[in-house]
Amino acid sequence: MTVLIPVLGDQLSHGLASLKPGPAGAVVLMVEVADETRYVRHHQKKIALILSSMRHFANELRELGWNVDYVKLDDAGNTGSFTGEVVRAAARHGVSELRVTEPGEWRVATMIDGWAAATGVPVEVIADDRFLCSRADFAEWATARKRLIMEDFYREMRKRTGLLMAFGKPVGARWNFDTDNRKTPPRGLNYPAPPAFAPDDITREVLDLVGKRFAGHFGDLEPFDFAVTRTDARVALDHFIAVALPRFGDYQDAIVEGQTFLYHAILGRYINCGLLTALEVVDAAAAAFDRGDAPINAVEGFIRQIIGWREYVRGIYWWAGPDYKNSNALGATRDLPAFYWTGDTELRCIAQAVDQVRSTSYNHHIQRLMILGNFAMLIGVEPAQIEEWFLVVYADAYEWVELPNVHGMSQFADGGVLGSKPYAGGGAYIDRMSDHCGRCRYDVKVKVGENACPFNALYWDFLARHHETLKGNSRLWRMYDGWNRLGPERQVATRASATAFMATLPPAARGWAVAD
Ligand SMILES: Cc1cc2nc3c(=O)[nH]c(=O)nc-3n(C[C@H](O)[C@H](O)[C@H](O)COP(=O)(O)OP(=O)(O)OC[C@H]3O[C@@H](n4cnc5c(N)ncnc54)[C@H](O)[C@@H]3O)c2cc1C
Ligand code: SF4
Repeated sequence: MTVLIPVLGDQLSHGLASLKPGPAGAVVLMVEVADETRYVRHHQKKIALILSSMRHFANELRELGWNVDYVKLDDAGNTGSFTGEVVRAAARHGVSELRVTEPGEWRVATMIDGWAAATGVPVEVIADDRFLCSRADFAEWATARKRLIMEDFYREMRKRTGLLMAFGKPVGARWNFDTDNRKTPPRGLNYPAPPAFAPDDITREVLDLVGKRFAGHFGDLEPFDFAVTRTDARVALDHFIAVALPRFGDYQDAIVEGQTFLYHAILGRYINCGLLTALEVVDAAAAAFDRGDAPINAVEGFIRQIIGWREYVRGIYWWAGPDYKNSNALGATRDLPAFYWTGDTELRCIAQAVDQVRSTSYNHHIQRLMILGNFAMLIGVEPAQIEEWFLVVYADAYEWVELPNVHGMSQFADGGVLGSKPYAGGGAYIDRMSDHCGRCRYDVKVKVGENACPFNALYWDFLARHHETLKGNSRLWRMYDGWNRLGPERQVATRASATAFMATLPPAARGWAVAD
């Protein structure tokens, strides 16, 4: 009686549910699947992160006594698909059962549904308990309410986990310290770089492979300094807690030219592939607060991102179903401008963000939300195109987390399932949060015309264009009041300016995203 345990590329956790019974009578199957590297053309660094982490993880399991069957991308006979490899391995090992931890996305869940028929043996799918709220618990919470509000969910999660709670009350007498977290960083602040890890022999081999097989994909492969083992990911966690967490809250929303990471954790890429667990990360932050090493606004803000936002978007992804991605509430149809891939634009905030993501596979959340996502929504990019871009470029992007963040939070394509209003902003917002505008060819203070910051007219044009859909939204009345106060003449000039700008947008260059 042999059980085959397929472990997927984002399941690299020693405590994974399907591994809990131990190695006796089991074969772990790990496969580098061409389909997974190509269904979208992921950033080269992201492919290297996953493949190298998989190879290291397989070696660690072997050292712990597991029988691991590892199929490399270039191995002879590799069929290039999960199902093909599971069928081959089931026959190779004469297995009587398959056991798998539930996958992160609908696409793979559908594949797994076909494994029993394809292999002729039963398949046990076990809940992924690395998440703090199960899919069933989220569905129960969501189904019981008229409107989904992240803050309500987050408070439930605080109570359930006991994090930052004392005698049933939130520590610091407030649930949420967000209003303390929008400071402008003073000049000359010292930003700690995340720790860099030199590639070992395994990573070098992977870098050679990626350089040969995926050279046409977006992004710079080298220098590559990501952690690819749990031990190194723990070093990254400890570094964040000691060095960056104390200021994480204060400057969480700021954008500073030349500074990619500021005081962000740069841990999403490790949590999402399993090298770190969400629980150990929030426990480490709470312990720093208990020791007096980090203030409440930082620790609460950080814990909210993980037990609040991260769990909430994952819950919505599964609760809303596989058709969630097909809605297009604002009827957006424009092609994604080529400069999302090239960075070749005079919009300085966008050019800088694209340059950063090309070299590091990272932007922080305000760049994602208020620059790249905001601009795509204002000009009306087709949701599927901007979603594919977000899935390709970020090392932490997997559909379960990317899709709700982009489709729901950033593009409002779900019509308000995830968030209660579109995150639309004009140049004034970007000027307040960043130091880009003073160096931009456009003038952020000018509202219309060739030299005006395009975000300004686009913002009003967006509101006017979607008036019928959005007018009933109580969170937008202030914005519509502002639009009405412009008066007819300025409204016409504003919309003409937006139209003129949109006519200058370069055509799409979908080459990066299309699978080869
Ligand atoms: C349009 C858009 C797309 C995004 N796409 C992704 C994605 O593909 N993958 C991804 O992990 N995050 C995504 N996020 C959320 C967030 O931007 C990233 O988690 C964060 O920037 C990762 O960097 P960090 O590790 O330095 O996290 P920090 O900014 O330091 O935050 C700490 C941690 O909180 C969690 N977190 C924070 N916000 C979110 C959120 N909205 N959803 C889920 N987890 C969150 C992450 O685990 C993150 O590591 C997206 C946000 C937006 C607005
Ligand atoms: S002026 Fe406008 S386009 Fe230029 S950096 Fe500022 S917000 Fe971006």
